[in-house]
Amino acid sequence: MIAGRSIPIQRSWLRTACWMVIMLVLLGLAAFLGMLGNYLMAGVFALFGLSCMAGVGSGSYITACPVCSKELRGLLGLKRCPQCLSYGQVSEGQYCELTADFVAKVPLLALPLGENRKMPPLCCACGAPADRTERLRIIRLEFAFDLDVPHCALHTGGADLDAITAAGKSKAQTPVLKVRSYAFYLACIKTNYPSLANMHINGNVSNHTVFASTT
Ligand SMILES: [Zn+2]
Ligand SMILES: [Zn+2]
Repeated sequence: MIAGRSIPIQRSWLRTACWMVIMLVLLGLAAFLGMLGNYLMAGVFALFGLSCMAGVGSGSYITACPVCSKELRGLLGLKRCPQCLSYGQVSEGQYCELTADFVAKVPLLALPLGENRKMPPLCCACGAPADRTERLRIIRLEFAFDLDVPHCALHTGGADLDAITAAGKSKAQTPVLKVRSYAFYLACIKTNYPSLANMHINGNVSNHTVFASTT
């Protein structure tokens, strides 16, 4: 397995400072309201103030996408690049793209679905060649469709359909396909987003056929 590029992560002191200021203002307001005897609002402000800690912590790290070099911020858990859709995570102080053999415990690698929804002939739960499909259905106000998602003989329930609110003013819902196998995810990018697939050529997409029969 060829390891992908790893990018150092940096703390953005500007973002850290902003989060600290917001936190201090909220905590200050909480203290002030507490002195006035408005304990309910004081509690609400204190809660918001303390939740800014997450922003001061991992929310203030920035890095660059290992695949397309776009700046990424807020590195909590698995992170999807908004430009090339590749997934990565922080490991040992570096940010790297997931390896093709990465398999999540539950379907959480979310791929936005466009008009054509071609599925690669791989198992969405492990990335091995698929030999059957499972039908998923999603019904929302904006769209409703069935999707046959490939699985191997060993796996069931490796995918899930969901909707996310698209960025921008429209607040429209977009369907996403959530899967467990990153190899399947990458193959989906290849079949459904040919323009993005070019970015991945030098990454670990090209070796996605190298799976052992891991289960
Ligand atoms: Zn990217
Ligand atoms: Zn499988």
